[in-house]
Order: sequence, then structure tokens, then C-alpha cells
Amino acid sequence: MPNPFDNALLQLNRASLAKSFSPELIERLRHPNREIRVSIPIRMDDGTLRVFEGYRVEHSNARGPYKGGIRYHQDTDINEVKALALWMTMKCAVANIPMGGGKGGITVNPKELSKGELERLSRGWVHALSDVLGPKKDVPAPDVNTTPEIMAWMADEFGKITGDTSGAMITGKPLVNGGSEGRGTATAQGGFYVFGALREKLGLPQMCRVVVQGFGNAGDHAAELWTQAGHAVIAVSDSKGAIVSDAGLDIAAVTAHKKATGSVVGLAGTRMISNEELLALDCDLFIPAALENQIRADNVAVIRAKVIMELANGPTTPEADDALFARGIAVVPDILFNAGGVTVSTFEWEQNLNGQHWTEAEVFGKLRTIMEREATNIFDTAQSLRTDLRRAAFVVALGRLEEAMRESHD
Ligand code: NAD
Repeated sequence: MPNPFDNALLQLNRASLAKSFSPELIERLRHPNREIRVSIPIRMDDGTLRVFEGYRVEHSNARGPYKGGIRYHQDTDINEVKALALWMTMKCAVANIPMGGGKGGITVNPKELSKGELERLSRGWVHALSDVLGPKKDVPAPDVNTTPEIMAWMADEFGKITGDTSGAMITGKPLVNGGSEGRGTATAQGGFYVFGALREKLGLPQMCRVVVQGFGNAGDHAAELWTQAGHAVIAVSDSKGAIVSDAGLDIAAVTAHKKATGSVVGLAGTRMISNEELLALDCDLFIPAALENQIRADNVAVIRAKVIMELANGPTTPEADDALFARGIAVVPDILFNAGGVTVSTFEWEQNLNGQHWTEAEVFGKLRTIMEREATNIFDTAQSLRTDLRRAAFVVALGRLEEAMRESHD
């Protein structure tokens, strides 16, 4: 598999060729400010001790405190976390929110842990990193396999260690623990606003046939939102496989089936296919919402979608980007399309710092303004530079970072 950090660096380079930026800016952004690896010793339920490897990468705080989720996955390593941290810097600049970029993780398959072990591991991650975290320093959030409940354990642990119980050191918390209205669905909702702003410009029909890869927090809400708006979600997948219904899936039934069995696979009235076959389905819109490196040089030729909108981070490699651009298949990049998550996370942080609680209508109203404005801005930038939407999004972000870093000499 391609190294995601190499891909992120390549994207940075390619954007700096689409529009010229100071070589010092690009050189600075090639190097995360800080990479931290920690050992997290956990007493397992059977009495044995296991030591897990955890990470926090603080990429850039030029525009505000480091911000970015925490991933629990057996394949998570420092290169993945570095890539995700760089993308967070770019994403926060794209959304024009006052945050920098960071990311965290633990190499673990959380499905193999009991709830008690998971709680001890999550508290252990905060314990090991409590010096570098904090509302004005570094503010984590959920990512793959991390949940609002885990965020609540982490906020509680941080409060015990530091006395800061504002909750503003982490976002994506449950509502009762200071979470924001709308955070659970924010990533998909933000993407839906981008879709609304760009649908016609990208030549998509009013009613689309949609395929969603990944049925977790990002993917299931996306399937639900597009369905509610009258589009046909004809296929979805998870790590166990994919299901198809040519007439459109009943997403409420898919969600119920996943809740009952742990997977979307096996729902009555649907046909099962593999994740590779999913890529080759004839559709208007393909939404990757799982992991990195799903669309690559070796499989890009099978893609039949008219447009790809990236809810996952890093699902398309630079080589695949070029092949898709050459075929006229637009890719709406992760750092724009999934920026709704970090935007509402930032709203949560702001509410915690100011002791406020906004209504869902306020949250989505502010989110919509940002997503529609930046989608149009990036589309226009791509048109004027005659380049793809990813390079255009990086160009917009780099312009804002350059401005913020002009006076700093670090
Ligand atoms: P999640 O853990 O809730 O769900 C991940 C989903 O992907 C699961 O359904 C899993 O079964 C599936 N999956 C894993 N491997 C797969 C494979 N090889 N093929 C198909 N499906 C597979 O995670 P999430 O929070 O929904 O995150 C998904 C993606 O969205 C990640 O790239 C994440 O970084 C990105 N993202 C999430 C948020 C957020 O707010 N949660 C925000 C921005 C970006």
C-alpha cells in the first residue's frame, strides 16, 4: 500500500506547482512541528499487562491550536497519523476556522477489547499526552473506531489530571458532557452542503444514483442524508463486504441490520458483492467513507462514477487523481468535502470556552454558510488555474497559511 504521508507530501508539491508559493512555506509544511510516540501499559481483564503504541502528531499551529481526531485501528502507524495531521492543517485552512492541524492514534483493534479495557486504554492515551493537550494547545476529536463515549472518558481523565473541566480540550463529546448539537452528523451534513453547491457545476443530475463505501459514522449518515433528499443509494459497504439494490437501498433497514449483526452484509433483498466490485458500479456519485488508498493506479480504471466526493481522508492516491482528471471524473477532495466534522468540532470548542449551547439550527446554519462559500471558492479557483479540485483546495489553504505564517519565524 502507498505510504499516506508520501501521498500527502506529493499533493503539497503538486499544489505548489499549480500556483507559486514561497519555497520556505512548502518546506515548513513538509515537516510536522512535533511527532510524539507513547507507550500505554494496560492491565487486561485476565490480569496480564499489555503495552500499546500511541501517537500524537502536531503538524502546524500557525492558524490556531492543533486540531484532529484520534484513530484506533490495527494498521494505524506514525506515517498514517502524520498524513492525517497534514491534511487537518489544510482542512482547517480550507474551512477558514481558527485551528491548526494534528492527529492521534493507537495501534489496536478495539473490537478485540472489552469495554473496561477500552476505557483504560483511552484514559491511558490522555495520561501519556496530558502535557501537550489542552483547549489552547491541542484539541482532539473522534475518528475511525472512536466514539462520543470515548471522548467523554478522555475529557474526564484530562479534568482529573489538570483540573480543567471545561470539556474544551476535546470535541465530539456526548451532549450531556458538553457536546454540540449536530456533531454526530456534521461530517456528512457538511458534505451534503458541498454537494448542493457543486452538483450542477459538476454536471450531476437532480436525482443521483449514489454508492457509499464504508458505513460508519461518516458513511451511514451520508447514506441517510442523500436518501432523505430523494437520491437513490444503490450500494453501501463495510469491512466485511458490500450490498447492492438497483432500485435503491432502504437505509433505515441497513442501519438496523448493521446494529443487529455488526455488518451491512446479509440484508434480505440485497445482492452481496466485494469492495473491489463496489468501485466498478455504474453510478453518478461515489462517496468513499472508509480508509485511505482505496482508489489507486492499479484499480482506478474500473471506476464508472461521474463524480467522486471524498468523505474519508486520503482515499484517492495522486496517480489515481491524474487518471480520473484525464477522464473528466471530478474528485471533490477530503479537505473540503469532509471539513464539516472539524468545523462543528470547532463550534463545540467555542461553545465550551464561552459556556454556551447553540441550537441545531444555529449550528447547521453556520456550517452551511462555510461549506457553500468554500466549495464555490475552490471550484472557481480550479477553473481559473485550470487544475483539479484537490490542487485548488490546497492552493486556497496554502494562501491562508502563508498569510498566517508571514510574520512568524519558527
Ligand atoms: P468509523 O469507524 O465510524 O467507520 C468506518 C467504516 O469503514 C466502518 O463501517 C468500517 O467497517 C468501514 N471499513 C473499514 N475498512 C473498510 C474497507 N476496506 N472497505 C470498506 N469499508 C471499510 O469511522 P468514521 O468516523 O466514519 O471515518 C471514516 C472516514 O471518514 C475516515 O477516513 C475518517 O478519517 C473520515 N472522517 C471522519 C470524520 C468524523 O467526524 N467521524 C470527520 C472527517 C473525516
